Amino acid sequence: MICKNLTISTEGHLLFAGQDVASLLREYGSPLYLFDEDRIRENCRTYYNAMKEAFGEKALPLYASKAASFKEIYRIVNSEQLGIDVVSCGEIYTAKAAGFDLSKTYFHSNNKTDEDIAFAIENGIGYFVADNEEELYAVDRIAAEKGICQKILLRLTPGIDTHTYEAINTGKVDSKFGSAIETGQAEAITKLALKLPHLQLMGFHCHVGSQVFDSDTFFRSAEIMLNFMAEMAKKHHYIAEELDLGGGYGVRYTESDPTIDIAANIHQVADCVKTKCAALGLPLPAIRLEPGRSIVADAGLTLYTVGTIKQIPGYKNYVSVDGGMTDNPRFALYNAPYTVVAAEKMNEETDFHCSVVGRCCESGDIIQENVALPSTIKRGDVLAVLTTGAYNFSMASNYNRIPRLPVVMLKEGTARLVVKRETLDDLIRNDI
Ligand SMILES: *Cc1c(COP(=O)(O)O)cnc(C)c1O
Repeated sequence: MICKNLTISTEGHLLFAGQDVASLLREYGSPLYLFDEDRIRENCRTYYNAMKEAFGEKALPLYASKAASFKEIYRIVNSEQLGIDVVSCGEIYTAKAAGFDLSKTYFHSNNKTDEDIAFAIENGIGYFVADNEEELYAVDRIAAEKGICQKILLRLTPGIDTHTYEAINTGKVDSKFGSAIETGQAEAITKLALKLPHLQLMGFHCHVGSQVFDSDTFFRSAEIMLNFMAEMAKKHHYIAEELDLGGGYGVRYTESDPTIDIAANIHQVADCVKTKCAALGLPLPAIRLEPGRSIVADAGLTLYTVGTIKQIPGYKNYVSVDGGMTDNPRFALYNAPYTVVAAEKMNEETDFHCSVVGRCCESGDIIQENVALPSTIKRGDVLAVLTTGAYNFSMASNYNRIPRLPVVMLKEGTARLVVKRETLDDLIRNDI
């Protein structure tokens, strides 16, 4: 299977973290998200240990919490000693409610409103990752009103094309995120940040894209960022203390995705960064990485119950499930690949080719195309969509007034509800 926390019992049932997923669905209802706490912790430790070993004590991984944001995730990540990225007041509020240490929190977003900025400062956010000049003026002004000096990083675009999907490719010069090194805007905002009295510039940030498998991308962006840091040291006598290289390590959605040794990769990036720093005469900055999906993706899966099965002779077959783009919009958004299996028929031949579709009134409501399921598939069977821990729960909507799914957390043979299923009353709670 695509990840080692997925196994098959002798009677052909899918086990996740050692537990029979179909019986969990019967206990907690359908559809359902499952998360594997041990896997989340293991992924956190891989980053934490490799970064401390490779880059020294000052290095820290930050969990990009937009990948999956609910209180229990923040508690787990907090106990694993990682920092976090947040991108909205909602994520800050959730992290705070979970008792997360907000001094280790980095606030992203290309468009922070004055209300966002004030809320973050009032809650003692550690860092702003400032995107543009306008934001610098706004943060400086609001920090002055609150009588503090706010730590910031500057988000720069190193101009790298990661050869992944356009929609998640963010390091190019023409990106909506950050300020470009190539155009001179990066230097301009550095000068401004150094000048504004209520900002403390701690260093620089870049994030070149997602679902990256080659270490090359990180080498190249690190090199460009370090060259820029050396230039700022020479021209403006500014030595950056922190360098944040962003997130984006890839995960295996299907058997055809490569496996990546994250620890080995981090060591390779560290060798490159250290060599480059020595060549440029720069002290080694405190390195940050911001993994999102690679912390939670393979720690999650979604379970559905099969409903209507439609065969259109000479054309195509459809298997409908009781969820859809409301709990997983990623195929509809950018054709994201996923592996779909029949959770209690794992030992059967898969010779029924179909599209697995949702229940929403929208033709694009597709979970996955070209799926092979057993030909015995029928109404009431349980389907599992694997590796859905990232960007499923967090992108869920109430389209068609469908209640959002609960989350059940598995740990060492036990299961507990950590997010309740929305009720019909929840749906009308704010309607007047
Ligand atoms: C989305 C994002 C991440 C996380 O990306 P993954 O592909 O989930 O690892 C990290 N940093 C920033 C700035 C992001 O926008």
